[in-house]
Amino acid sequence: MIYTKNSAEIELMREAGKLLHEVLEQLRLMIKPGVTTLEIDQTAEKLIRGAGAIPSFKGYEGFPSSICASVDSEVVHGFPQDVPLKEGQIVSIDCGVILNGWQSDSAFTSPVGNVSDDLKKLIRVTEECFWRGASQAKAGNRLGDIGWAVQQHAEKHGYGVIRDYCGHGIGREMHEDPGVPNYGKPGRGTRLSAGMTIAIEPMIALGTWKVFITDNDWTAVTRDNRPCSHYEHTVLITEGEPEILSLPGARVGGHLHE
Ligand code: MG
Ligand code: MG
Repeated sequence: MIYTKNSAEIELMREAGKLLHEVLEQLRLMIKPGVTTLEIDQTAEKLIRGAGAIPSFKGYEGFPSSICASVDSEVVHGFPQDVPLKEGQIVSIDCGVILNGWQSDSAFTSPVGNVSDDLKKLIRVTEECFWRGASQAKAGNRLGDIGWAVQQHAEKHGYGVIRDYCGHGIGREMHEDPGVPNYGKPGRGTRLSAGMTIAIEPMIALGTWKVFITDNDWTAVTRDNRPCSHYEHTVLITEGEPEILSLPGARVGGHLHE
């Protein structure tokens, strides 16, 4: 069941998205060699609760933390650890908030200090994949248009598109219908309509898209152990350009190049 949001509900989701953006920008500033992902998690929880919101991940189906922190070949659902980040790694930080009953979900991947050009490019292309997908997220298009736009851009660069995880509807619940795959065929799948709110979240691997789950039963890691990048925003479908709720003021057109 897809829940289309009315204007009052959308306004509340804007507020949740704005808060999440502010939290993630604070977390981004913390990322450097020597910091632990546990410290980043503790800061996230403090900032979220301090703003009168709830960290949606904490306790979600037993997840232990307020952020997912996935390092290098970890794809998603990495547990924050009391282990210092090291120069040359990449780390994705995924976080969600509930503010006044409404959810927002967003993730980014950051270099730790100086990283190789290959990793810089992986992060950049993953963000480009998001913007390519978001450019198709408008009323009248279909889910396959989003997935196709993400997939063709990633594969053009020789990267693997993670299949086992995808984006999702979001609103009062973190995960609502529909699922939003990062692959697909143009013109196929559920038709998008104004007022739908979805998380678009490409997970793009330097090598294979195949993953395994570690023995914590949560964390997904690439089978070839090569790095993976993740980028996500909560997006409102409109008749025109989508509104990026977790990146207030962003314009899709301003992020499209090549
Ligand atoms: Mg997320
Ligand atoms: Mg998500």
